[in-house]
Amino acid sequence: MDCRDTVHLICWYLEGKLSPSVEREIERHLNQCRDCRLVLEAATKTLDQHFGTGRAAHTA
Ligand SMILES: [Zn+2]
Repeated sequence: MDCRDTVHLICWYLEGKLSPSVEREIERHLNQCRDCRLVLEAATKTLDQHFGTGRAAHTA
């Protein structure tokens, strides 16, 4: 699992669509890689904005 793979899979990871073994690989990479942790944080915020409460999306 390198940075490209991790960034590519982060959306699915956040949605819980990956198999547990792949999730473990991503988590292991995130533990070692600050860049990908930043990407994960940004993606989490974006997902929260779109799907977090479900209310903001309706007004958009
Ligand atoms: Zn990385």
